[in-house]
Amino acid sequence: MELDNRITGKTGLIGLIGNPVEHSVSPQLHNTISRLLGKNLVYIPMKVERDRLENAVKGLAAINMVGFNVTIPYKQDVMKYLDEVSKEAAIIGAVNTVKIIDGKLHGYNTDCEGFLRSFREETGAGFRGARVLIIGAGGASRAIAVSVAMDGAEGVCIVNRTPSKAIELVNLLNSNFGDIAYAVGFEKITGQGMLGNFDVIINTTSLGMYPETEASPLDRSVKLKGNQIVYDIIYNPLKTKLLEHAESFGCKAVNGLGMLLYQGISAYELWTGEKVLEAAARKIYRLIEKII
Ligand code: NAP
Repeated sequence: MELDNRITGKTGLIGLIGNPVEHSVSPQLHNTISRLLGKNLVYIPMKVERDRLENAVKGLAAINMVGFNVTIPYKQDVMKYLDEVSKEAAIIGAVNTVKIIDGKLHGYNTDCEGFLRSFREETGAGFRGARVLIIGAGGASRAIAVSVAMDGAEGVCIVNRTPSKAIELVNLLNSNFGDIAYAVGFEKITGQGMLGNFDVIINTTSLGMYPETEASPLDRSVKLKGNQIVYDIIYNPLKTKLLEHAESFGCKAVNGLGMLLYQGISAYELWTGEKVLEAAARKIYRLIEKII
């Protein structure tokens, strides 16, 4: 047997706080990036109970972790314990990545950059001048809506099962980016005609996610146009009913694995201050794809 040198006294600590954390693929994702780039960092999952969140966050700063990710249900609550938050994270109202510098906690939301990088990488397009339909108004939707607005979308329509949450998101966008957003009722997207107004359709709901893989936010009878881009942020399954539907009309159909990958890569880049090259990103994509 050989000496195990994977963790030494010089190994930097990164990780994830949330509850639950057992299902997360972030440990595999980040530890693979470290191995690929030859970085002496180890990423660990840390399940934290709600009444211990403050102690946990302060403890992570006290032990000089390099940084950590934050997942459900603490993306909002963690903000109370941070020293500084980025502009996007403040607008979205959620932090998914924290970097610790000299014991101070700096919060970011890399879902924004992760989504935009994945969109650009997989479609070759950005949002400047685009008319965008976002289905859903939950946590992921907020990050995506802010990304799309920051990237110069001309109009953003939000559709959500609970209309009050769609209106809340519209108000958030309009107060930060000018009058670009509006909400319509969920029933509107089941009818014909309306969807033709959009260049990009993004599903941010969990409709179609495992185990409810037969579900879709769009009725099967709805017609799409071949020049539309349909992005489903679900990555399990990799091809949802919505994406099958989009492909049957010749649309560019993109799943959420790229967003998952790039939000992780963006966090890693914040922690290390170094860019992860596209060739490495693609290699990691292929490895992660196998475990979904
Ligand atoms: P969330 O905050 O709980 O929001 C869920 C959204 O889905 C809400 O808009 C909710 O509408 C809607 N919804 C749920 N069930 C529905 C149903 N039966 N009919 C219509 N609408 C329904 O969750 P989230 O964190 O935003 O995550 C949403 C999805 O995105 C999940 O599938 C998650 O795995 C995926 N995700 C992917 C990534 C990635 O990196 N690719 C990142 C984050 C999340 P109401 O407001 O009416 O409840």
